Amino acid sequence: METVTRMRLVGGNLALDFVNTRVGPPGAAPDDDVLTGYPELIAWGVYASDLTDADATALRRRARDDAAGADATFLRALGTRDYLDGIFQSLAARRRPESTALDRLRDDEADALAHARLDQGSGFAWTWRDDHSLARPLRPVVHAAVGLLTTAAMERIKRCEACSFVFYDESKNRSRRWCSMEDCGTAEKMRRYIAARRSRLARKRPGDPTPGPPSDAPPGSSAAPAGAT
Ligand SMILES: [Zn+2]
Repeated sequence: METVTRMRLVGGNLALDFVNTRVGPPGAAPDDDVLTGYPELIAWGVYASDLTDADATALRRRARDDAAGADATFLRALGTRDYLDGIFQSLAARRRPESTALDRLRDDEADALAHARLDQGSGFAWTWRDDHSLARPLRPVVHAAVGLLTTAAMERIKRCEACSFVFYDESKNRSRRWCSMEDCGTAEKMRRYIAARRSRLARKRPGDPTPGPPSDAPPGSSAAPAGAT
C-alpha cells in the first residue's frame, strides 16, 4: 500500500495531487498509476492528509462489508480523476475546459457539500468528519478543485515541462517550470544539455578540421568524426 507514496505531492493543491496519481511523458498516455483499487484510494487519502487513520480504518471496514460498493466508488474515483485531469490539463495548455467536465464537477461538489458540515476553527471550513460513506476520500478532492478554479490565478496552473504532472505555481515571478527540481528539473536540464551539445556538434561538422584530444575542452569539441554516418 505504501506504493501510493511513489507519486510526490507537488501539485500544491489536493485536486492537482489527485490528478498526479498517474504520470507519463508529456502529451502521451500515462505509464504509471498508483490508484489500482479502492484500498489504494484510501491509502492515498491518508498520504495526502485528506483522511485520518481513524477515517481509513472505518472506510476499510466499510469496504469489506460492501465490496461491490467499494468497487463502484473506485470506478467513480477514476472518472473523477479523468475529468479533473481534462480540466486542469486544458487550463495548463491555456484552453477552455470542456463544459461537460465542469458540469460533472459542479454535481460532485453539490454532492460533497451535501455530506459536509461547517466546522468552526480559527474560521469556518467544510469538513467531512461525520461522513462515513465510501465516497468520503473524494469529497475534499472535488472541493479543492472548485476552490482552485474559483479563487486561483489561472495562469499559475501549469504542467511540468518534463512529465504530465500539473501544479500550481506559487513562485513569486511565476517562473516554476517543473513538478520538482530533484526529479524533472534536473532530468530536463540534463536532456537540454545533451541536445544542445549534439546540435553544437552537428553545426561544427561540415569542413571542420579534426579537433584535438578532448582534454577538458567544452562539450562539442571532441566527437566530430564519430557520427559521420
Ligand atoms: Zn515533472
